[in-house]
Amino acid sequence: MKTVDNYNFKGKKAVVRVDFNVPLDAQFAITDDTRMRAALPTINKILNDGGAVILMSHLGRPKDVFEEKYSLKHIVSHLGNLLGKPIKFATDCIGQPATSAAAALQMGEVLLLENLRFHKQETAGTESFAQELASHGDVYVNDAFGTAHRAHASTTIIARFFPNDKVFGYVMANEVANINKVLNNSEKPVTAVMGGAKVSGKILIIENLLDKINNLIIGGGMAYTFIKAQGGKVGSSLVEEDKLDIALKIVKDAKAKGVNLYIPVDTIVGDAFANEANKQTVDINTIPDGWMGLDIGPATEKIYADVIKNSKTILWNGPMGVFEMSNFEHGTKAMAEAIVAATKLGAYSLIGGGDSVAAINKYHFAEQVSYVSTGGGALLEYIESGSLPGVDAIEKN
Ligand code: AMP
Repeated sequence: MKTVDNYNFKGKKAVVRVDFNVPLDAQFAITDDTRMRAALPTINKILNDGGAVILMSHLGRPKDVFEEKYSLKHIVSHLGNLLGKPIKFATDCIGQPATSAAAALQMGEVLLLENLRFHKQETAGTESFAQELASHGDVYVNDAFGTAHRAHASTTIIARFFPNDKVFGYVMANEVANINKVLNNSEKPVTAVMGGAKVSGKILIIENLLDKINNLIIGGGMAYTFIKAQGGKVGSSLVEEDKLDIALKIVKDAKAKGVNLYIPVDTIVGDAFANEANKQTVDINTIPDGWMGLDIGPATEKIYADVIKNSKTILWNGPMGVFEMSNFEHGTKAMAEAIVAATKLGAYSLIGGGDSVAAINKYHFAEQVSYVSTGGGALLEYIESGSLPGVDAIEKN
């Protein structure tokens, strides 16, 4: 993998795609600067080599024109504090403001360009726009994993203009290396723990994973589609009627590929979708009418935790139940605990994709698993297709 470690930036202006898409409050104060902090090692490597840094990012979802609330000027002073030096700012990412600021930039200095998405050519992936961005510097660095699944001008198309001078930043390199540990260089047994609301968004991921894993654990709302497909009674649980065939296909494919498929054997049901609902534990195949499955039951928890603790590689995506409600979080918390225990026993564990990251943070386990991915959609798409436009743009010519 070509990373900033393999490149000497001395005397070079580096155009660096970062993910500074940070949340701002009504006064434009940054409420969580995790993404900015994540980019500091890459920026500092370039500066320490004796290079200059031109940062480009998107912020929010502007409608292709300038919008005050999405201006990156709001983050300039905080970035300066983090880097311990003044930051130059260009009021546009292309045109005169950007070209003259980039031309005047001295080695050791940092320039931040205004929000890329004030131009519709960014998300359209317009080549001439990418070329204008490329003209600001001598080398391209991509450190924005969260947008690597998009073939945007600044994440993918721009790389064409740097055939020999394009590398990954540390955030990107880390994400790619960690995902490859699960997908390609994994120690067996490999277990995927899949949960969340629906099976529909995860079909391709599950299908692709079947070639790489030994155990597939199913929980969350998607479990009831599997149960109904196999003839069980699911009461008023979440079910995707149009995905029953697909659930059966996954069962069949798992068997054909020798993957042990685990589906809940019991469930905690509520008589309403609410934390205060009446609840009881029932057999998974005989959920009474008027009740819905909101968490995995204790017998399931035990089976799943044992599988996890005997695994050497674990991928977790999606909660086991409605973990936002304290009365239905037990199963999700138990899985998080089992993953932490397995990690202590030497397993490699990767947590990724939206709500499982929220869950691991809720229980303060982020430090006790091997890796928590920062790129929800990008991670899932990487698992689904085995590559990402932003990764290929650097790795392939
Ligand atoms: P996803 O974004 O697909 O990973 O789904 C995450 C959401 O699934 C969370 O907000 C959970 O509350 C929800 N979820 C998990 N289990 C269930 C369930 N049994 N019924 C309904 N929603 C669920």
